Amino acid sequence: MKEIIVTVKKEFVNKYKKGYPLILEEALENTKSLKEEGQIITLIDENKAFLGKGYYGKQNKGCGWILSNSKNSNLDYKFFYDKIRNAFSKRIKLYHSRDTSCFRVFNGEGDGIGGLTIDYFDEYYLITWYSKGMYEFKDNILKAIKSLVSFDGIYEKKRFEENGMVVDEDSYVCGKKAPEPLVVKENSVNFAIYLNDGAMVGVFLDQKEVRKSIRDKYSRGKSVLNTFSYTGAFSMAAAKGGAITTSVDLASRSLEKTTENFTINNINPAKHKIIVEDVFLYFKRAKKEELKFDVVILDPPSFATSKDNRFSAAKDYKDLMKSAIEITEDKGLIIASTNCATFNMAKFKKFIDDAFKECNKNYEILEEHSLPEDFAVTDKFLEGNYLKVVFVRMY
Ligand code: SAH
Repeated sequence: MKEIIVTVKKEFVNKYKKGYPLILEEALENTKSLKEEGQIITLIDENKAFLGKGYYGKQNKGCGWILSNSKNSNLDYKFFYDKIRNAFSKRIKLYHSRDTSCFRVFNGEGDGIGGLTIDYFDEYYLITWYSKGMYEFKDNILKAIKSLVSFDGIYEKKRFEENGMVVDEDSYVCGKKAPEPLVVKENSVNFAIYLNDGAMVGVFLDQKEVRKSIRDKYSRGKSVLNTFSYTGAFSMAAAKGGAITTSVDLASRSLEKTTENFTINNINPAKHKIIVEDVFLYFKRAKKEELKFDVVILDPPSFATSKDNRFSAAKDYKDLMKSAIEITEDKGLIIASTNCATFNMAKFKKFIDDAFKECNKNYEILEEHSLPEDFAVTDKFLEGNYLKVVFVRMY
């Protein structure tokens, strides 16, 4: 494909000189030459000095990624092979782990290729392409994976439908078809994975350390409320640690999926509650019924619209936190999590602080988490470290 040269606006030159990897449309003098996704772009400044080389691919944010800071680098098979080999070799310890068989092996710009992630689920690989442009490199990337590792099968998600949704089609790429479910484990907790069932496969791998902490330190003999519970991954961690859990999610699939996860962990689902309900209505009901929990977990999506509510983490987290405070036992724990990339940890803690002040309660932060090590991040792109989790003791 033809390489194109694009000039960066003066006010953005410094940003790119410092190694910022995301190509922003507003940073480019002229975007007319950007026509076909997957085109190789060379960015230069107004004096024609080289700034970086990357590809054109439209995502929610940005229109491509810089992949190399060297003028002479060809974005060819060897380039992708080296990046992927390097990323896989950094996860060697995880590959050898006896009690974990699911983790991220390639994390976008953190591993040198923005727009691409690869997850490992017990001998299966799941590739996520974040733009049509990235997808143009599919042959080289598949070839690199095939030459580096043995596997049972490969699946893919094309996350480049309107609004970054996943293209609705079969996810199978090659090799053996995965069993449904494919049972994987994380720190000896089992999860049922469906590689070919829409955008989400059953577990969010970025919460691994949070789940471990919940199980090991805060669950024995406790009552745990898990809100926005999805397949109940946090509930599994808590139940394994000796808690009685209540999981609340609006999606009716959550009942069946959470029950299945309990079953494959040899936990009797009948001892736990799985409630299909809007969390905001549940909070109202719980308050009226004067329910209290030792631990409340909040892990909402960044945006959620239901029949009765519209939630935006950036606007409404404080109120969500206040609802949680009202139904948490004295000296209880609230685990507040968000994957919203539009605010940072300092701002997130401010939402938490405001909520406690408005409720006239004191608190102490016990733990803070961001992405685990397999979700590699680069200090050139801080937005990439989106996960923020705070464990708060209330008193
Ligand atoms: N905490 C989960 C992941 C949450 S994904 C985990 O660790 O695996 C977001 C979930 O929020 C989805 O399952 C979605 O169905 C649910 N959700 C979105 N809006 C909701 C609402 N108003 N009430 C309850 N659940 C909601």
